Amino acid sequence: MNIHEYQAKQLFKEFAIPAPQGAVATTPEQAQQAAQSLSSPAWVVKAQIHAGARGKAGGVKVARNLDEVKDYSAAMLGTRLVTHQTDAAGLPVNSVWVEEASAINQEYYLSLLLDRESERLIFIASAAGGMDIEAVAAETPEKIVRVPVHPAAGLQPYQCRQVSAALGLGKEQQSQLQTIMNGLYQLFLAKDASQIEINPLIQTADGKLVALDGKINFDDNAIPLHPDIAAMRDASQEDAKEAEAKQFDLNYITLDGNIGCMVNGAGLAMATMDMVKLKGGAPANFLDVGGGTNKDKVKAAFKLILSDGTTKAVLVNIFGGIVKCDVIAAGILAAVEEMHLTIPVVVRLEGTNVEQGLAMLKDSGLGLYAAEDLNSAAEQAVKLAEVDAGSRPSSTLTSSMEGGRP
Ligand code: ADP
Ligand code: MG
Repeated sequence: MNIHEYQAKQLFKEFAIPAPQGAVATTPEQAQQAAQSLSSPAWVVKAQIHAGARGKAGGVKVARNLDEVKDYSAAMLGTRLVTHQTDAAGLPVNSVWVEEASAINQEYYLSLLLDRESERLIFIASAAGGMDIEAVAAETPEKIVRVPVHPAAGLQPYQCRQVSAALGLGKEQQSQLQTIMNGLYQLFLAKDASQIEINPLIQTADGKLVALDGKINFDDNAIPLHPDIAAMRDASQEDAKEAEAKQFDLNYITLDGNIGCMVNGAGLAMATMDMVKLKGGAPANFLDVGGGTNKDKVKAAFKLILSDGTTKAVLVNIFGGIVKCDVIAAGILAAVEEMHLTIPVVVRLEGTNVEQGLAMLKDSGLGLYAAEDLNSAAEQAVKLAEVDAGSRPSSTLTSSMEGGRP
């Protein structure tokens, strides 16, 4: 789960990591009042979205007076901001963060993340801050220092000195950095983060290290343990369908093709997507309905797939191991009946109670296509997706069902 910059900065303060004073606002007037309450000669208005690279996209503006604060906020609020970290539709700006402008002497990069290779938390730092760290890593890897922390020993002062030296900090800043690194380490463990990034960490004109930006990702599996973090969720920043899928405990990811896929098991879902691609089609989603599924979950999954107008055909590929094929069939029928389906559905069932499941689909008279195996199922779905839904006579659908496997 992601949170906004302003929420990250709240957490930074809890863990003694200095960040600029500021306030969040949802209207231009609020933003202006917020600026007024901060005694500062200038302010920075920052669009709050779950993505970075806002600066280059017009989502970070320096305001010299209160009117500018209002104008910049009005220009950002209610729009969608597209940055190179978002998709083409961008993310909605429902709030702005107004903070005091800092006099920047130096920009650094500092992050803490779980490095799966070394199985440790690892600090990554660079004197080339404020920039795209991936580009720094690709072009000038020598400018990046990596410091893994032993889980039993914890973060050691010498490791902070190591990072400090790599950043070329003076003695005074070295002790500030130690406080910040300790804060990051404590925050990471206390809240079950998976990544914390400060880009840029700055040195101000008067020698203070300050977190000017903040990005925190949390381990989804640990969210129920942290109600304070759970309360920070902003569903408006998440893919609506993925958020709905989460409610039903479905593993769902939106993709940009037009063949909706409903599969049980992540491996089978991957194989199904590969097969669709192999046959020249493109999947509209990844969806694993899980092993212990039930009729309501299947129905929810089906609705999710169809809620997007771009889906032209649905491919159901179920191996009834733990979940039984007749349960899946019941879910499909409930969803299809309720939704007055107009696009073709190709069903491939295999496993426990397959005969019952197929019989239910066939007897429904809803004109579903049965396929013998994954190969032909994918082929059929790709072909059907290419045909305009309106030009298919419904009798074809039913006879196709009858022509399927027993
Ligand atoms: P993003 O990473 O989304 O582009 P940042 O918060 O990193 O957003 O801001 C982009 C740049 O804007 C920073 O690298 C910094 O140069 C400048 N900036 C951001 N906040 C402030 C501030 N409070 N005072 C002065 N400059 C700022
Ligand atoms: Mg940044």
